[in-house]
Amino acid sequence: MAKNIQAIRGMNDCLPSQSGVWQYVEQNIRQLVGSYQYHEIRTPVVESTELFKRSIGEVTDIVEKEMYSFDDRNGDSLTLRPEGTACCVRAGNQHGLLYNQQQRLWYMGPMFRHERPQKGRYRQFHQFGAEAYGFEGPDIDVEVIMMGARLWKAFGIADKVTLQINSLGSNEARIAYKEKLVLFLQSVESQLDEDSKRRLHSNPLRVLDSKDQNTQTLLKDAPRLIDNLDTQSQLHFEQVCEMLDALGIEYQVNPSLVRGLDYYNRTVFEWVTDLLGAQGTICAGGRYDNLVAQLGGKPTPAVGFAMGIERLVLLIESIQSSDEFSPKADVYITALGDAAQTHAMQVAERLRDALPALALVLHCGGGNMKKQLKKADASGARLAVIIGDAEIENKLYSLKYLRDEMPQSQVSMQQLLALLEDI
Ligand code: ATP
Ligand code: MG
Repeated sequence: MAKNIQAIRGMNDCLPSQSGVWQYVEQNIRQLVGSYQYHEIRTPVVESTELFKRSIGEVTDIVEKEMYSFDDRNGDSLTLRPEGTACCVRAGNQHGLLYNQQQRLWYMGPMFRHERPQKGRYRQFHQFGAEAYGFEGPDIDVEVIMMGARLWKAFGIADKVTLQINSLGSNEARIAYKEKLVLFLQSVESQLDEDSKRRLHSNPLRVLDSKDQNTQTLLKDAPRLIDNLDTQSQLHFEQVCEMLDALGIEYQVNPSLVRGLDYYNRTVFEWVTDLLGAQGTICAGGRYDNLVAQLGGKPTPAVGFAMGIERLVLLIESIQSSDEFSPKADVYITALGDAAQTHAMQVAERLRDALPALALVLHCGGGNMKKQLKKADASGARLAVIIGDAEIENKLYSLKYLRDEMPQSQVSMQQLLALLEDI
């Protein structure tokens, strides 16, 4: 027998048993972006490698070790997108969407990172992201945070996630802070983990984001960025906090929240849960006022977030079984014999013409009534319509209720239509 070919490690199939919960998530997201009037943008999954190097930053986990990059046949270096923000800015600049205007955009789709696959961490994963351009904030910062809060409520997981926020200040404030941080880090250099030692010189702020426990303990004595903000950023941050208070959104200020990408400034935030182990961040975002110009556009303030759909699905499945989301048929049509099969097909098409939203399964492949009714039951349908030679002759169809205690009855096509209209 030929050897089975397997999917790439860390890249998952979404099987019919799981696609119901995914559709439920996607529908709620579409409703959310509609109610905030964000508009969808779809960009290619492949971009030039340069885009991510210039935006995410050379000394970050993503660019250093996680990108799927390859040379195409022309010798150009291309990369499967590891995230959506850079793509959004690239497209916005290219098509003049960001120049002197305000835009509220959203996207959803697969992202690719070569990480060690584990629960909640994959090599192909999916993000929903929202991005707002041309707004200085702090109101819009709070708006994008509220979108997350509203979504958690819709999914019934509001009590499973908490909001952490921080401010990274302006570029200038960060440069001044970096010097203080480097002085501190040098004083404990020999005790740092290897990655942090390297980053102390190349990108010291990233040390704050170290996953190493020992380094994190040392950092407790480090100077804090939040105590070294410029006045404008300080004010901006206070206003964000005040608005969150006024809206009744709880949050924790986390001074060591720096985010793994270089382009952020001022407000940064993460929605975290403790139900998914080390993969606890389900949504992360912040302000990135310098990125549009960094990628060749006119300076444009920007803020946004990205949400990991797989982690969101895991969280939803922790409170609800994914079976509840699998679609169920409304009606199942059975047919006994060749003539009945053709007639049943005509009936099915007529019903679909009249009731496009009806979930109708037409039995195919013959078999006796017992077998057909078993399939009808498995389809989840409430009603089975039985069509045989007698039914065709009498122009009456037999109905069998599969979930309710109701006697079998016979109805005309008109009656059947009326009945299925409010099933
Ligand atoms: P993490 O701390 O888990 O590595 P990150 O800081 O790299 O996340 P971002 O780049 O900000 O994450 O992406 C935003 C969101 O996308 C994350 O909060 C997470 O929900 C999701 N995400 C990121 N990487 C993965 C992955 N490899 N598999 C599944 N989801 C992911
Ligand atoms: Mg990561």
